[in-house]
Formats: sequence, structure tokens, C-alpha cells
Amino acid sequence: MGLTRLEASQTGTVYIVGAGPGPGDLITVRGLRALEKADVVIADALVPRSFFDDVGIIVPDNGIIWRDAQEPALTQDQVNDLLIEHALTGRTVVRLKGGDPGVFGRGWEEAEVLSRHGIAWEIIPGLTAGTALPAQAGLPLTLRGEARSFALATGRLDGDEVNPELPRADSVLLYMSVSALPRISEQLLADGWSPRTPVTIIERGGLLWERRFRGGLGEIAQIAQEVKLTSPALIVVGEAARRRVEMPTILFTGLDPANFRTLGTLLHWPALQVVEAPDAGEQVAHALEAGQSARRVTFIFTSKAGVRAFFAAATGQARCSKDLLTGARLIAAGPGTAQMLERYGVCGATVPEVPGSEGIIGGLSERERGLCVLIQGAQATNALECELFARFEGNGGGVVRLKLHRAVPHCELGGTALPEHDAIFFTSPSGVRAYQDVFGADAFRREVLCIGEQTKAALRSLDVEGKVVHPGVAESSRSGRSSSSAT
Ligand code: SAH
Repeated sequence: MGLTRLEASQTGTVYIVGAGPGPGDLITVRGLRALEKADVVIADALVPRSFFDDVGIIVPDNGIIWRDAQEPALTQDQVNDLLIEHALTGRTVVRLKGGDPGVFGRGWEEAEVLSRHGIAWEIIPGLTAGTALPAQAGLPLTLRGEARSFALATGRLDGDEVNPELPRADSVLLYMSVSALPRISEQLLADGWSPRTPVTIIERGGLLWERRFRGGLGEIAQIAQEVKLTSPALIVVGEAARRRVEMPTILFTGLDPANFRTLGTLLHWPALQVVEAPDAGEQVAHALEAGQSARRVTFIFTSKAGVRAFFAAATGQARCSKDLLTGARLIAAGPGTAQMLERYGVCGATVPEVPGSEGIIGGLSERERGLCVLIQGAQATNALECELFARFEGNGGGVVRLKLHRAVPHCELGGTALPEHDAIFFTSPSGVRAYQDVFGADAFRREVLCIGEQTKAALRSLDVEGKVVHPGVAESSRSGRSSSSAT
């Protein structure tokens, strides 16, 4: 085989990459590097649509083939054909698989097919659901003196037959078991597990609308039926499902949970989604045209969503858009916004020391020259815009505000009843309203946390007392931590 692969130098390479379960930031650095050089990505159904946003890779639209986007879904043979076809035309191909390609992932089967065609391949491991999801849910797979072993198994065989040889270990992590759960739990009972054995089900682990359920082995199939459990779900049986770590489950309703994970174990149920303005392309074209005749142009980006919307609107092909900003002065409201610009190949944005509008204005001189292009969501007030006018007006300058995006209630919110949680976290007044509209008082029946005074005021208008918590600061729900930092 080695020789065949050496001879394959004229063809493209296929990287069979484990994406990890759920959000893109769980991919390995090696996997990310492969993605960065890919011409074509063929993703499987477990990889969420938001994956490339999460990892910050901009792949041209025609470079991604979503297996689940096809109607009907592609068969394994069709996937193999696509891998071969693209590699033989010299392209670098990433076959992106949920979890680890070698754990119930058919990665090795694909590698064999590629070898038969003399195509070079590499398998890049990923985090598998069985270990990553319990870790995110606060379930220890091993614990000194208490839990010494765990086993990963599929609950069923091809077709719908139950795996007749379910392993014995302190914990068993069952994949692909949703449809056959009643028979699988019967078999575990017959194998000698107690009906009181703790079980946790993690449905859509790490993805939007994640839910978790707990119960004894004797009742878990009934619970799954009652809650209408869907795939993908991981069934955690045994010691790992026994809750020992004091960690609140937080229903996080903001757009990006990245900075909030220290608060507890998060379920991401976003209240809002960002949509682009229908005339975003015209707005950007107009601003760029105005910029051509200005002596100096300052672009101010106030959010990551604004950066995305700008590039999406500036060209269909985001990769080329960085040239648009060449020569301009760039200001990003915070480090996250600057990083987002870098992902689009635009470096050198200034980030004010004080975050937000205050820092942006503080960094400008009293009288600025040239044109200022402010990219800010449609819902923001015009306070920043007015302050900028005061600085840029006169001297042939001016301010153009681009309202390229707005946050609207998430179209999938309310598809399912709220999951069990210890606290709910709101990051904006419009998020509070979206939850109120869909779930009513039920949304606020547990502890309510929020990010700032405006959100707190929105809660108060509904007679709900919210507690302001800063990201990265553990709050009182976690035992043993002080709540003094909450304002
Ligand atoms: N290669 C993957 C597994 C593919 S088999 C890995 O290593 O994780 C598909 C099964 O994996 C699903 O039926 C489910 O049991 C589990 N799974 C994968 N991703 C999951 C997720 N985000 N949430 C819950 N279960 C998941």
C-alpha cells in the first residue's frame, strides 16, 4: 500500500477528519489545519451547519457538500465516489466526520476505498461523543476509588437488532441506541445491571437545543418515550451517570456561549438568530463607492455579527473581500470582533482598551477627517452614530451607518418544551422578550441570570428579578463560590 500511496502524488489528498461532537471549537489543531487548506469539504450529518462559523474558517459556498443537505441523503457509495472524483482532479479534500472517524464512523472503510484508487489519505482523530459529551455534562468517566472503567459500545447492530454483547464496565456509553432503547435496557437488566443503575441521556450534546434526562435503568426507556427522544443521543449507563460534581445546568439563551462555560454546564438554546438586511449588498456598495472619493476612510465594526454580515454582503465570495478594506483605518469594538476580521484576512484593526462605544469614541480625536463607515446592527440605538457625527462632520467628511443585520427571535425556539435546568441566562432585552413570547412565565421559573443592567431592566418589566453576572465569573449556583462579584 505504501508504494501506491507514494505514486499518488498527482492526485489530491483526502483528510478524514474527526470534527468532535457538536460545536466547531472542539476540532483538533491538526484537523483545523487540514480544513484550512481544503478545496472541498464533504461533511456528514452529525456536523452542525454552524461548524465553520465556530471554527472561523471561510469556505466558499460551493466548496462544502453537506451530506444531510442532499435529498435523499447520500449513500456511502455516493460519498466514496465524491471523495474519489474530487481527489482525482487534484483537489485537497476534507471528509469531515462527527466525533472521531474511527469510532462508529466508517472512516477506515473510506480510507480503504481511497487506497484502492491510489489516493493519499490521512486520518485525523477527533473527540468522540462517548468521552467528550459526559465531560461537558459534568459526568466523570473515571474517578479515583469509585469509577475505574468505561466501555464504548453501539446499542444495536446493522438493522435494528440489539447488540447481543453489551460490555460490562463501571460505565457503558451507548451510541446509536435511541430507536432500540426499550430492548437495550431490557438486555442490560438481563445481563445483571440493577434497575436502579443511574442513566443519563445526552441528546444533541453540544449542539443547539441540547437536552439531558436522568433516571434509573428500569425506567429510562419510558422516560425516553415520554420526552420523544431523538437522535443523536448518547446513553450513559452506570457510575458516570451518578451525579457527584456540584455544577449547575444553565440554559444559555445568548448567541455565543464561548465565554460563559465557567458558570456551569450549558445547554445552548438561543433566543435570537441574526438575519441579514435584504438590502445589505446595496448598503455596502454605496458605502464603498462613497469611500472611493474620500481622502480617508475609517471602518468601525461593533460586533462579530457585523463583520460577518459585511463580508457576506460585500461579495458572494468572502475570501476575496479583504481587499475592500485595504488602506482604510479599521476599528473593532472588542478583541472578538478583531479576530473575526482576521478570519476574513483583514489584520491591523485597532481595539480600544475600554470595550464598546465609549472606547471607540475615546480613541478618536475631536476633529476627524474623511468618511466614517459604521457597521452596527439595526437594533442598536443611534447614540454612537451621533457621537461619530460630531467628530467627523465638516472637512468634507461624514458618517455612513450600515445596518446590515438584526437579531430576530430564533425560528426554532419553542419547537420543544424547556429542558430541565438550574438557571437561565439572558444576554439581551430582546432575548428576554423572545423567551417570554414563546414560553411565558415558564421561562423564568428557575434562577434568572443576565449580562447587564439593560437586560435586568427588561426582566424587571416582567416582574422577574434577574441577577447580573459577568462572563468568566462563577456565580452563586456553584457551591463554594462567592457571589460578591455579581452586581
Ligand atoms: N464518530 C462518532 C460516532 C458516530 S455514530 C463519534 O466518534 O462520536 C453516531 C452516534 O454517535 C449517535 O447515534 C450518538 O449515539 C452519538 N453521537 C454523536 N454525536 C452526538 C451528539 N452531538 N450528541 C449525542 N450523541 C452523539
